[in-house]
Amino acid sequence: MQNIDSYDFKGKKALIRVDFNVPLDDNFVITDDTRIRASLKTIKKVMEDGGSPVIMSHFGRPKAGPEDKFSMRHLVGHLSELLGIEVKLAPDCIGEEVKAMCRALNPGKAILLENLRFHKGEEKGDVEFAAKLAENGDCWINDAFGTAHRAHASTAVIAQFFPNDKMFGYLIESELESLDKVLLNPKHPLTAIMGGAKVSTKITIIENLLGKVDNLILGGGMTFTFVKAKGGKIGTSLCEDDLLDTALRIEKIAKEKGVKIFIATDVVVADAFSNDANTQVCRANEIPDGWMGLDAGPESIALFKRVIENSGTILWNGPVGVFEMEKFATGSIAVGQAIVDATKKGAFSLIGGGDSVACVNQFGFADGVSYISTAGGALLEYLEGQQLPGIAAVRG
Ligand code: AMP
Repeated sequence: MQNIDSYDFKGKKALIRVDFNVPLDDNFVITDDTRIRASLKTIKKVMEDGGSPVIMSHFGRPKAGPEDKFSMRHLVGHLSELLGIEVKLAPDCIGEEVKAMCRALNPGKAILLENLRFHKGEEKGDVEFAAKLAENGDCWINDAFGTAHRAHASTAVIAQFFPNDKMFGYLIESELESLDKVLLNPKHPLTAIMGGAKVSTKITIIENLLGKVDNLILGGGMTFTFVKAKGGKIGTSLCEDDLLDTALRIEKIAKEKGVKIFIATDVVVADAFSNDANTQVCRANEIPDGWMGLDAGPESIALFKRVIENSGTILWNGPVGVFEMEKFATGSIAVGQAIVDATKKGAFSLIGGGDSVACVNQFGFADGVSYISTAGGALLEYLEGQQLPGIAAVRG
């Protein structure tokens, strides 16, 4: 396996799979360019070596062939500005004309291929389509962690055409490095905070983490499935009745493995799912009829904080309350602050999964944590312990 730092791109056309799936407003203006910025280091490395980046990505969800609203032409200007050179836009991502354009690129010049998903072969993982893409470059760099869980033509299948010239870009490298610090060689105690709405979407991750973590804080809506499973009264709180046995099984496995599980003992309850609702604090297993738990209570927050602040490594996925409403954001803010404090004391902290990332950004904790992963589905599958096709393709 090659490494982007040691690979010499001089005179090479480097096919770089990035994730430029950015949001646009109604006037086709990019409203958040984080993903484009995140790819610049890799693109610049190729140019600085005297190579030529051939940049490729999907963009939106075109249904049947080319659609102007999903054209890369909406992105190429901004990319040019960020790179400080004029990036050429190819009329397609495969074909003779595109191939010739790529071949004709001078060192230090870049080209952006048209949306990969204008061809059905991309998502199908079609080998012939991947072969045509491969004709546009001398080497392949995968730097799209967000799509690494897909066995698409450009994210995985294409690897077979570059057996000795394939590597990760800096973005994937740093994602994997951070994830390995949590999953492979953490500084103990390792604490995972799993929150969010439902147990069902997190079971596999929780099960995988039970073999690795020392402490597991379970918060948010899933609290109540666990509380009800042990005979608690949960009022109208969110609950997945079909998972009561699963909740008990998770607790049993945790006990067997010596993992300490922390679940809210007191909660903030409301008489409606609204920021204007009446609220009170009560025991998590004695919620009055007609009331629902929407945040962790003060006793639970103090407990969560203590566990987090004494951790060597922290993984946070999912808010511990309905943080979008001010009244129920206290628990998630306290968790974020405790993670920042632990990080200051030397802990490594990784925040991943859409809502906890939103939470960290919204409350200004982003600079105080070690790493924020922005890869939704790919991150979750990695945490579940699955092999990601886009990672295996480079390593294999
Ligand atoms: P997820 O996508 O599963 O991580 O869920 C995130 C969502 O869970 C956020 O929108 C939170 O508002 C929501 N959430 C957190 N705690 C609760 C709760 N106690 N009841 C209902 N929803 C919750």
